Amino acid sequence: MLIEKDSVVSIAYQLLDASGEVLEKSDQPISYLHGGYDGIFPVVEEALHRQAIGYSCSVLMNPENTFGEYDSELVRVESRDAFPRDIEVGMQFEGAQEGSAEVMIFTVTDIADDKVVVDGNHPLAGQTLRFDCTVVAVRPATAEELSHGHVHGDDGAHGHEH
Ligand SMILES: [Zn+2]
Repeated sequence: MLIEKDSVVSIAYQLLDASGEVLEKSDQPISYLHGGYDGIFPVVEEALHRQAIGYSCSVLMNPENTFGEYDSELVRVESRDAFPRDIEVGMQFEGAQEGSAEVMIFTVTDIADDKVVVDGNHPLAGQTLRFDCTVVAVRPATAEELSHGHVHGDDGAHGHEH
């Protein structure tokens, strides 16, 4: 069958940066619900639309198609008192963006004596990325999957509460 809206698509993939370094690689194929459910990058969905098992593609993705441009306004210097004592570079915290209720993930990027620098950009923001994938399975989604908007396990197992 061809990949259409409401297909469950399984792909083996790797995500690379512009220099060709592998950032992420699937050990097992991953499955997503095709057709605008935010299961995967929209540009990858476009590339896979109406393709079939065995199809391979390599999609170049600009920041606007992935994690956005790097926004220097999302870098903040905070007082160290506001953080746990065992804070380390690379730790992540939830926080709200000024003037917005949206919860963002901030990553600690630098620690000085009494200051902590946190960055609300996604670690891959501003990067051109390459997504290489091969379609390994396609099946119609179940009614339950469609009502949830995501894929359930092969055995119908359902590890979440909604
Ligand atoms: Zn579900």
